[in-house]
Amino acid sequence: MDITNRKFLATLKLVGLSLILVGCSATEDGSRIEASDAPQPPGSGGVSYGMTNIEGALYRAGIVSGGGGHTTVLLMTPEGVILADPINHGFSEWLKAELAEQFNTQVEYVIYSHHHPDHASGGSTFADTATFVGHENMAVNITKIPSNAAPMDSNGNGSIEREEATGGTANNFDRSDANGDGTLSPAELNATIQPLDLTYRDQLTISLGGSSVEIYHTPPAHSDDMSVLLFPAERTVFAVDFLQINRLPGGLTGFLAGYPVEDYGAAISVVSALDFDTIVQGHSEVIGDKSDVDAFAQLLRTAESEVAAALTNGRGLEETLESVMLPEYSDWLLYETRREALVSDMYRFLSQQ
Ligand SMILES: [Zn+2]
Repeated sequence: MDITNRKFLATLKLVGLSLILVGCSATEDGSRIEASDAPQPPGSGGVSYGMTNIEGALYRAGIVSGGGGHTTVLLMTPEGVILADPINHGFSEWLKAELAEQFNTQVEYVIYSHHHPDHASGGSTFADTATFVGHENMAVNITKIPSNAAPMDSNGNGSIEREEATGGTANNFDRSDANGDGTLSPAELNATIQPLDLTYRDQLTISLGGSSVEIYHTPPAHSDDMSVLLFPAERTVFAVDFLQINRLPGGLTGFLAGYPVEDYGAAISVVSALDFDTIVQGHSEVIGDKSDVDAFAQLLRTAESEVAAALTNGRGLEETLESVMLPEYSDWLLYETRREALVSDMYRFLSQQ
């Protein structure tokens, strides 16, 4: 099927677009925890917010930027809106105003994909009207250091001291350190996340205004609290971070957050088993279909088998980086910046087996 047209169709159908420039955005690799959780002065960066129709009453919205922007989905119903990730405070404030002004509606449900603050922050904006939903493991995870920040905790004491902080966590240390004690506690690291009102274990269906969304938990990959959203009437799936569409994944620390390819395969197979035509991912404006789900699983298997072959042949890391070029993925987003990290993470991971 010709997915190229489908991918760009979404970006052409811009609706209710009012761009606000903000200064920065977080990434899923933990390097910039909550860097964008406050509105930034216009003109201080190249990031903007946008909303696009996907199918029927389902929209994709998020932070628009080249390859790394954060994305969520929302379903309009006569009784209000079902929103997936709130992303951050700046985006949520923009979306709340947009929904009120352009659509005369409000958010009734927020459904988290997982606990990482670069997707899960900002929900308090909707706390006056919304019920917050997520997997039961997320309720536990937001009492601890987020798993995408945990690698910073080098002394393993359950909090992040100033000298341990890197990237955006270091840059925003003073703002996050609410009590000024020089340490970021789990409570301070999760302060931007609105707690859950409703949790589930395996599967949950939320209905509102004659519409519904089915929520599925996947086996652990990337994190242990993943929720995949299926909008059955719109035949669309929303999946975040453990599965990406035409985009190379970022390693957290170690290979893909420490989960092996086989675990990603198990999580991805939950998505493959769903009945849908379109998949929206948590980063970038690129959308896809079922063949793209299979393609991502194949990327991981290809990288694994080629690195394993290099190890069998006694190749060192440098040689492996030069030989495992994954050319069939060279047109994917972030190929230039992430191929080496993917191969070297895989190399270290397989070397330890
Ligand atoms: Zn994540």
